[in-house]
Amino acid sequence: MTSAQGCPARFYRQLADDLVLCELCPQGCQIAPGRVGICGVRENRQGRLWSRNYGTYAAEAVDPVEKKPLYHFFPGCSIYSFGAGGCNLACRFCQNWELSQNALPARALSPAEMVARVLAWQKHDPDCIGIAYTYSEPLVWFEHVYETAALAKERGLQNVLVSNGYINLQPWRELLPLLSAVNIDVKSFREDYYRRLCGGRLAPVLRAVEEAYQAGCHVEVTTLVVPGENDSPREAEQLASWLAGLDAGIPLHVSRYFPKHKAISPPTALDVLRIWQVAAAKHLHYVYLGNVAVAGAADTICPQCGAVVIRRGLTGVCSEGWQDGHCRSCGRRIQIVQEACLDE
Ligand code: SF4
Repeated sequence: MTSAQGCPARFYRQLADDLVLCELCPQGCQIAPGRVGICGVRENRQGRLWSRNYGTYAAEAVDPVEKKPLYHFFPGCSIYSFGAGGCNLACRFCQNWELSQNALPARALSPAEMVARVLAWQKHDPDCIGIAYTYSEPLVWFEHVYETAALAKERGLQNVLVSNGYINLQPWRELLPLLSAVNIDVKSFREDYYRRLCGGRLAPVLRAVEEAYQAGCHVEVTTLVVPGENDSPREAEQLASWLAGLDAGIPLHVSRYFPKHKAISPPTALDVLRIWQVAAAKHLHYVYLGNVAVAGAADTICPQCGAVVIRRGLTGVCSEGWQDGHCRSCGRRIQIVQEACLDE
């Protein structure tokens, strides 16, 4: 697009006195010259908006796709994962605060170099399906993600986005056709939670999930259950019921909170997570526990007969109950995008 580090940003309006209004996300920051928006990475340079993190990354790893988490998308495969600094929410309990707060050094890598690195890796790891934009908030890395995803798609790679879903409709609709799968955090089903603990709003996140699903993207959702804040079974049911209105087969990951960043309350108790999971499972077929070392918590269970269809453990991912996209025991179809990397 332009230089190796940084590029002119998209989605903004120029206002009087060299102010700019960023229209990438619902924060709608009005930014004075020399200042950055809430995300810390979109800067007003002499009355024009600049994306600082284009052509850079701050975190890199090859992960199991299950770690995103995506359990119904190429299970057993790996994915080359990149993250850059910045985030447009301000969650007190951020589990990745070093990256979201720009505390890690950025390294230069253009979109073309990123795709070339992944293609080179694939020669050693044929189970690597593509690129995940993850770790912090990839939506505030928009120009870089968009350009990389377009090049990656041309080369036959899958693009996966792990995100808070806090984006305006126009940029989201431009990006979605390039994405194969998304995992979106729905942090709570209450507006006051988003306002008080995250510095954002719930409604745009729900809209982003709906848009992704309607665009034909594979969708999974994660909720971090924070003790005393969003741990009631009633909230679990409300969130799950809304999600089931789109599709009861959308996987929901119920993730255990640990004290990080500005949050100091103790980790979520396992029995609280279990109660949350049971409440959500009244509406959804696949509800998993995440961030826990509990046998069976990550297994895919057939919603019809209760057989284990896919077993996930320390030794890998095994499709013992899987056959041609169906439960081997009762024949029910199980919504999984592809089973290419599974061990029988
Ligand atoms: S992307 Fe960043 S600068 Fe733009 S509105 Fe959102 S938080 Fe503000």
